[in-house]
Amino acid sequence: MCSLKLNFSYEESVGDSTLISFYIKVNFKDKDMQKIVDVDGLFSVINKQGFLPLFTCDCGNFSCGGYYIKVIHLEDGILFDNSYKPVNEPDETQLIETFEYKLSWIDLYNIASAVYAQINLINNKYPGFNICSGAYSDIVLKNIDEYQRLLKEFKDKCG
Ligand SMILES: [Zn+2]
Repeated sequence: MCSLKLNFSYEESVGDSTLISFYIKVNFKDKDMQKIVDVDGLFSVINKQGFLPLFTCDCGNFSCGGYYIKVIHLEDGILFDNSYKPVNEPDETQLIETFEYKLSWIDLYNIASAVYAQINLINNKYPGFNICSGAYSDIVLKNIDEYQRLLKEFKDKCG
């Protein structure tokens, strides 16, 4: 069973009349993670390692309250290691909190699928609107085709 739970919510953005603010809260092994998932960051884990901006502020501004997580690829999944401050060039000295969470490739595929499905659901409900991570940012819908492509890469990893 996957140790990570997703909680989706969305609303019309206060910052723009054709924008939907999309919020993804995460609970990891009964611990509520601070702030919300950066959708670009989430999909980037398939191809990237190191300090990745996986969580952004609820307002949509990473440097406001977002943070990096150190991502390490393993044979059978990904290790999410510690959180780090949202500075321009993160390193070990910027540590916020120590933890270690592992997800299998199947868990990761299921998570990415759920997020992708939710973006499509919002997209269908609000035709002509854009969607962003947090109250106001430029993070989400411009990349929907890329997310679809990356979703296939997650699936390929499951073997
Ligand atoms: Zn903020």
